[in-house]
Amino acid sequence: MSTAPAAVPMFDAARIRKDFPILGQQVHGKPLVYLDNAATAQKPKAVLDCIAKVYTEDYANVHRGVHTLSQRATELFEGAREKVQRHLNARHSHEIIFTRGTTEAINLVAQSYGRPRFKAGDEILITAMEHHSNIVPWQMLCQQTGAVLKVVPIDRTGALVLDQFEALLSNRTRLLAVAHMSNALGTINPVEKLIEQAHRHGVPVLVDGAQAIPHMAVDVRALDCDFYAFSGHKLYGPAGIGILYGKEELLDKMPPYQGGGDMIRRVTFEKTEYNTLPYKFEAGTPSIVDAIALGAAIDYVNGIGIETIAEHEHRLLAYATEQALRIPGLELVGQAADKGAILSFTLHRIHPHDIGTILDHLGIAIRAGHHCAMPVMDFFGVPATARASFGLYNTFEEVDALIAGIHEVIEVFG
Ligand code: PLP
Repeated sequence: MSTAPAAVPMFDAARIRKDFPILGQQVHGKPLVYLDNAATAQKPKAVLDCIAKVYTEDYANVHRGVHTLSQRATELFEGAREKVQRHLNARHSHEIIFTRGTTEAINLVAQSYGRPRFKAGDEILITAMEHHSNIVPWQMLCQQTGAVLKVVPIDRTGALVLDQFEALLSNRTRLLAVAHMSNALGTINPVEKLIEQAHRHGVPVLVDGAQAIPHMAVDVRALDCDFYAFSGHKLYGPAGIGILYGKEELLDKMPPYQGGGDMIRRVTFEKTEYNTLPYKFEAGTPSIVDAIALGAAIDYVNGIGIETIAEHEHRLLAYATEQALRIPGLELVGQAADKGAILSFTLHRIHPHDIGTILDHLGIAIRAGHHCAMPVMDFFGVPATARASFGLYNTFEEVDALIAGIHEVIEVFG
């Protein structure tokens, strides 16, 4: 067995782990090894403290009050929007829409951008590795408009078949919606190239950044994507808050997604005048504190440095992959050349749920199932996979614990 590589210089995982109170606990009498980061990430104390502070000292509804607390809450809320803007390098803060998460952001684009524009015979292009959140909203839109869903295939490594992508772009294509990184396979798609090709055909692009955002720097202007969606909870922030970035010129032309308070300028029974961006898309009281705490999560990540995190996770993945491939009967599902910190696998004859259950008894949290990507499971001919996914606080010792745990699973099932 090869030894774990040296840690990334300046990256002190032991110190970082102290920032995450939840990681200090035992599960079934064993130290918790949390390897379910692709589903959701744990929260640093900076985020937990931010939530407590805002509710304790600054909480009020935003945008509507003349009183001090409301003004303070509004400043914090709009400050968080600016943090997201800087994090994504968006041109304007009003291009940042707060949503409940990636799912709501994609539904917003489907219903507000797609529904008024798409007609029977128009084509929406997605890929075979999408999460259900980037499939079902488009299927619903197809039912509503008569548009047709087209799917770029993947190969056995879990990479996109790029020749087919080119062939599927046609003068009927109205939108490309593609994952930046696959949650089921770990594949990182060459989105910059896909966007450039799509734009050559005049096709706008939505990037589902749910998995990519915690692992890499994202620059929406360099990518030139038209929409970028992500969830706060995978970026060490709270659940219930997410982001839709959209180019101003597109968002401006889109009608509101939902009606209610805050998204209006003037209401009469005859006619309603809508608010400007970004409020036009933020009907009702938003998740005020969660948005502010997402800003704290972004500060936390940037305090460590996204490049440093990426390098640490890359080494963890390389080490885990090398160790896993030595296990007899273990097959990796997803071995694309460009891959993020996700290890999806099957073990000969042992159901992933049994793998997950035994590992849980050893204190190791992984995910077993279809990962909301049933078409990916169908493509690889498996009902489910076991998935270990790494975050910034994971260590090489935890990879060793996972590998030892898998050996125990194999012993139990003979
Ligand atoms: N897209 C991808 C690639 C995901 O991994 C996920 C969540 O796992 C989503 C979309 C949906 O995110 P949420 O459930 O936070 O809206």
